[in-house]
Amino acid sequence: MKILRLLLGDQLNHKHSWFQQTDENVIYLMAEMRQETDYVKHHIQKVVAFFLSMRNFASDLKSKNHQVVYLEIDDSNNPQHLEVLIQQTIEQYSIQKFEYQLPDEFRLDEQLKQICENLSIPTEVFDTEHFYTTRTEIAEFFQGKKLLLMENFYRMMRKKHNILMVGNDPIGNQWNFDHDNRKKYKGEVPIPNAKIFPKNVEKIIHQLDEMEVKTFGSIDTENFNWPTSREECLEQLDYFCHHLLKHFGDYEDAMHTEEKFLFHSRLSFAMNTKMLSPMEVIEQVVHYYHQNEDEITLSQVEGFVRQILGWREYVRGIYWKGMPNYAKMNSLENHNKLPDFYWTGNTKMNCMKHSISQSLEEAYAHHIQRLMIIGNFSLLTQMHPDEVDAWYLGVYIDAIEWVEMPNTRGMSQYADGGILATKPYVSSGSYINKMSNYCGSCHYSVKEKLGKKACPFNSLYWNFLDDKKEYFKDNQRMAMMLNLLNKIPAEELYAIKLKAKTIIENLEII
Ligand code: FAD
Ligand code: SF4
Repeated sequence: MKILRLLLGDQLNHKHSWFQQTDENVIYLMAEMRQETDYVKHHIQKVVAFFLSMRNFASDLKSKNHQVVYLEIDDSNNPQHLEVLIQQTIEQYSIQKFEYQLPDEFRLDEQLKQICENLSIPTEVFDTEHFYTTRTEIAEFFQGKKLLLMENFYRMMRKKHNILMVGNDPIGNQWNFDHDNRKKYKGEVPIPNAKIFPKNVEKIIHQLDEMEVKTFGSIDTENFNWPTSREECLEQLDYFCHHLLKHFGDYEDAMHTEEKFLFHSRLSFAMNTKMLSPMEVIEQVVHYYHQNEDEITLSQVEGFVRQILGWREYVRGIYWKGMPNYAKMNSLENHNKLPDFYWTGNTKMNCMKHSISQSLEEAYAHHIQRLMIIGNFSLLTQMHPDEVDAWYLGVYIDAIEWVEMPNTRGMSQYADGGILATKPYVSSGSYINKMSNYCGSCHYSVKEKLGKKACPFNSLYWNFLDDKKEYFKDNQRMAMMLNLLNKIPAEELYAIKLKAKTIIENLEII
């Protein structure tokens, strides 16, 4: 029987059971499509990284004697639309059965179900064999529970998969080392140079230009730096273990004007395209830790494992539990539009300038920049979650909706009404000053709430709490903040709110 197997751009799992045997009756289909370049405006590095990784994956399959049909973006046979592509390949190769792997995005899941209904040949869907959990495991785990606490899920996962455990107890008798992982970076330990994988990507750029694909952000076409093959991804993982793991946890939340990556792994793209599996990443990191316990403390490793075994699987479960309604949620009823500086970095706020400029230059910002700088500012200025989602989905190299949306709409914008976070991640300038060196060289003064030089985060923070106090009045975790708000004298609060409203109305000039 002649079988057609579709592979999407984020299904580059070399270890998938599909590839264990070669079969001349099985054709793998991969295509670079306008449908995917255009559903949101992407950063140029994101498009290039996906296409390059797909091309490398296809050549690897071919070198192992698999039959592959690969259509580049400018191929004249490329219909640029998934359904037409599948139909035409079925006809061209007299295909008798169509198979695909479960997509991770709701949009593609629906589209493929519909395509299968329209096909006149048998179809079958397979697991991607990538995640620890199934799509519905989290919903089942939390069934009947009011609060979907990540911590409870994470502990279950540690036990279930026997990771950093001694019997039924966590190694070191502690599940969570978050309190040790909140250091500001003051240069006390050197940060190793980022691992680079320089390659010339002028050919792809030329193809994208010819096809008039609209992108944003910058790229070094002669030295494109992201790992885009299985070998490079493994090198990045190895580099993380040898050079970065030692201080990963310590500086996980730190931000610095001169350091874009600090001790972060930059493995999200490799994992989200499935070139690396979360299991092999965790296994290798835990193994390296056990071999080097004299040098690496448990808090570094636990902090890292928590992100992948905990957060990454958890947000995926929340996505599948909540979709399609999750994509429309706007619990705080925010409606403002993002200002232009989200696409230029042109603002006097040093923290925003650095975090946004870095995102535009590298297609990367680390978690706290995404959450406590850009996300925090977007929420305090009450931006519409659709606008914020579209920006995050476009700008980051690792942004695929299943992971981007719960993080952005849920964790950072509280638009899901607290499904993912028990309170909104908002702060005034003092948190930013505590965790970074941004404020020292800022145009604004982090200590001031009012006046021309006052840090915008300060008035925006109190204004947000006041605007949303009705919404949060029964949230115990907000009680302390709301108490402090109540203590601000009426006249002062009036001035703070006036200042905040002026900022929101004049975002282009702050
Ligand atoms: P490290 O700091 O080295 O962490 C290791 C790994 O843990 C990451 O590679 C990632 O796979 C995983 N991880 C850490 N935190 C999370 C999390 N909250 N959710 C899921 N996985 C996590 N991550 C994405 O992969 N894609 C996104 O589109 C994305 N959008 C985000 C949007 C916002 C507003 C926020 C606050 C976070 C977002 N994250 C997203 C999570 C996190 O910021 C990135 O995974 C991380 O910055 C990637 O860099 P890294 O590989 O160096 O991570
Ligand atoms: Fe950001 Fe305010 Fe600090 Fe400036 S003073 S860097 S705007 S937090």
